[in-house]
Amino acid sequence: MPRKLAAGNWKMNGGSAELSEIAALALAHPAPGCDVLICPPATLISRMAEAARGSAIAVGGQDCHGAVSGAHTGDVSAPMLLDAGASHVILGHSERRQDHGETDATVRIKTTTAVTEGLIAVVCIGETLGEREAGQTLDVIGTQMDGSLPDSTTAATIVVAYEPVWAIGTGLTPTLDQIAEVHDFMRARLAARFGADMADGIRLLYGGSVKPSNAAEIFAVPNVDGALVGGASLKADDFGQIIAALD
Ligand code: PGA
Repeated sequence: MPRKLAAGNWKMNGGSAELSEIAALALAHPAPGCDVLICPPATLISRMAEAARGSAIAVGGQDCHGAVSGAHTGDVSAPMLLDAGASHVILGHSERRQDHGETDATVRIKTTTAVTEGLIAVVCIGETLGEREAGQTLDVIGTQMDGSLPDSTTAATIVVAYEPVWAIGTGLTPTLDQIAEVHDFMRARLAARFGADMADGIRLLYGGSVKPSNAAEIFAVPNVDGALVGGASLKADDFGQIIAALD
């Protein structure tokens, strides 16, 4: 069983003043029982990596380009993230799929580059409400997994986050049975593609309106190896309670 992971996605939130949250988190959780990751906006990565040095907190990016350098104005590459002190990168988040037209093929290229360069990729997938209501959830999840993950990788360098689009930032969450159904399906899909041993080592996160009050029951669902947390990762106190629920 891989070590569980509490991952925070700050999205387009946070400036220098919020670095104090990292100091508070590090102080409150010097030796957490799970891996802890915070993905701040690109502007904060190197300062957050400084602030987290010597603590159990890893720092990640929220996206990277599929190329390692070149004429791509406004983009950040995997080697740049590593250089800034990041060890992870979120890829294929539904907000990037929506806002920037990222497809499974785009996400696969980015993921391949990220892991080749030495980052751990947190690859996001999830259905829309319309897709769930049409009974297409598992089809959508299977297609996104097949299309977004690289062919050749290792269990330690890939994390898959199931984030139903309709649960992100809405306060809505699937039932525990619905989460279990999707996570069981994801594990089986990984086993069919990569073999059971590797599939068992890949961490499967749930994301979408995770908060201190629902974290423990979600983490008790089989095949849930942690969470990708948006809003509730911004405050050390809230995120600390989620970390504690994984201990
Ligand atoms: P949320 O976001 O926890 O605010 O719902 C989760 C995410 O988008 O990763």
